Amino acid sequence: MYAADALTDHEIEVDVFDRLPTPFGLVRYGVAPDHVSIRSVRDTLDKVWDKPGIRFLGNVEVGRDISIEELRRSYNAVVLTYGAAADRRLGIEGEDLPGSVAATDFVAWYTGHPDYRGPDFSRLLHNTRRVAVIGVGNVAVDVVRVLSKSESELSETDMPDHVLEALRDAPIEHVTLLGRRGPVQASFTTKELKELGELAEADVHVRQDELELDPWSQEQLANNKVAQRNVAVLNEWLERDSRTDTHRAIDLRFFVRPESIGGATHVDSITVERTELDADGRLSGRGEFERLDVDLVVRSVGYRGEAMPGVPFDPTSNVIPNIDGRVTDGGDVVPGLYVAGWIKRGPTGIIGTNKKCAVGTVTSLLEDLPSLPDPVETTDLAQVLSDRGVQTVSVDGWRAIDARERDRGHERGRPRQTIAAREELMEIAGTTPAT
Ligand SMILES: Cc1cc2nc3c(=O)[nH]c(=O)nc-3n(C[C@H](O)[C@H](O)[C@H](O)COP(=O)(O)OP(=O)(O)OC[C@H]3O[C@@H](n4cnc5c(N)ncnc54)[C@H](O)[C@@H]3O)c2cc1C
Repeated sequence: MYAADALTDHEIEVDVFDRLPTPFGLVRYGVAPDHVSIRSVRDTLDKVWDKPGIRFLGNVEVGRDISIEELRRSYNAVVLTYGAAADRRLGIEGEDLPGSVAATDFVAWYTGHPDYRGPDFSRLLHNTRRVAVIGVGNVAVDVVRVLSKSESELSETDMPDHVLEALRDAPIEHVTLLGRRGPVQASFTTKELKELGELAEADVHVRQDELELDPWSQEQLANNKVAQRNVAVLNEWLERDSRTDTHRAIDLRFFVRPESIGGATHVDSITVERTELDADGRLSGRGEFERLDVDLVVRSVGYRGEAMPGVPFDPTSNVIPNIDGRVTDGGDVVPGLYVAGWIKRGPTGIIGTNKKCAVGTVTSLLEDLPSLPDPVETTDLAQVLSDRGVQTVSVDGWRAIDARERDRGHERGRPRQTIAAREELMEIAGTTPAT
């Protein structure tokens, strides 16, 4: 949307394709539903649709419904912004047991992603008292918070009803966040961290010995303002009296790495090894193991980009190779092919980082534009897709979905209620699903 915004500023016509019937990617299906103000960036992105010369072709998967080659033949330029939605794995024993899930799945479920086909969380959460969340980034903190919030805290969100009901009925008592390294190396931001200490029904705990900093961490701390603020918050929690008005506990653990996930037919434990950092910041195990009884393990160790057929890909860094947003193949620029967002940079940065990133790519595109050949194919792709039986969602279709979700939310005293079923989204958009 940021790339489309920058292009339309220069009176360039833009078609935005998405495999989903709805726009805005992870702003809709990633950003935590209880972060209402961050999610409201959608309102800003939505205004881009009002600009002249822009169309939405939702429900079109590039690489399946239409190829990159077809797109390149139909436009002067193609900008790839398909994100990095796959999960990373831990590579430890027990990782595939029922009850061991990827954060990507849990997030897709609680945000109501229409293609969600993962574990049945409504059933899983019904028997979940103790959870381990592996990872110390903002997504891991989102997962801990969503699992720990009270019914009334969550009722202000736009989560689908079935998600709210499952979270309300889950008998969760204990959520443990596990970090391999120390608090200085954690990648969560202070605002996200602090929220864990402000929950209505959950008390947060840290351990003194895990906040003690080795020489390497002390050195790193001196140059890292975010880590300084995080360490200050964690130390404040150490001093804080335990609350008696809560029925949930959140444990933040550091210097513990998952060794294996246990259970016969379902997760019943996770074994971690205590770790330490040497003078050069290298991590090693101390040979001391601890078993935690848990019913659910959520692995939140990062997102990963995937290759698209017909597009160069760097399998080491999982991004599309590029120079200033110009896609390269073996070091040579591929004319007319550009990239922006997570699939250009990897899964880092905040939403605003993508704006700068997209504007950078569009600057390269505008420089190249006079020398880019005109499209060889002049048939409207919306027509081509329709002839293939692919039903596309237009801006009007998206607006109908948007209005229906808001209406349903308002009926329940909430800002919006996300509609999760693809068939329903397509029906509201005034079309039927592609077969
Ligand atoms: C769980 C989570 C929480 C986050 N929370 C925050 C937060 O609180 N604050 C913040 O600033 N940032 C947050 N972020 C980061 C933010 O969401 C990203 O920076 C941003 O969404 C990346 O934008 P993107 O366009 O590169 O990718 P995406 O947002 O992933 O968009 C990619 C789009 O491409 C579509 N697509 C994929 N493949 C195809 C295909 N083959 N054909 C057609 N379309 C396709 C997808 O459906 C999607 O709509 C969070 C991220 C995650 C994962």
